[in-house]
Amino acid sequence: MKTLGVILFMGLVMMACSGYTQQDKPKKFEVTKTEMEWKKQLTPEQYIVARQKGTERPYTGEYWDNHGKGKYVCIGCKLDLFSSDTKFESGTGWPSFWDPIKKENVLVASDNTHGMSRDEVLCSRCGSHLGHVFDDGPKPTGKRYCMNSASLSFVKK
Ligand SMILES: [Zn+2]
Repeated sequence: MKTLGVILFMGLVMMACSGYTQQDKPKKFEVTKTEMEWKKQLTPEQYIVARQKGTERPYTGEYWDNHGKGKYVCIGCKLDLFSSDTKFESGTGWPSFWDPIKKENVLVASDNTHGMSRDEVLCSRCGSHLGHVFDDGPKPTGKRYCMNSASLSFVKK
């Protein structure tokens, strides 16, 4: 019985720790807002994608077929993320890029949800979810940044 008690206790401690980490996470971003503030700023779709790590349906977003010259900034904090110069036709129905404007403007984290092991891409300033990055992109980087239009705002040159 004593062992069981210890195991239960350890389990509680571990749960408490992971809970704390989750809550503590947003603090490391330079731009932080409450859920209410995000809901006010974003449309319902933008909120689900950018703040709840949702994915828009392919071929439905605003930018997968956008061929304008300019830059794509974060929907949450307007940080420069991608340029039309690195946008390419991926055939996926999501805006795809082979390189961000600045490496430090995006953050890559491992995402093991939905039974897949993927690399999630976040805005490094506000933590908004942008999409995922894969290793099957074109030269010169070989990367495919598969983004959600809902997480981006296009600024025409
Ligand atoms: Zn941002």
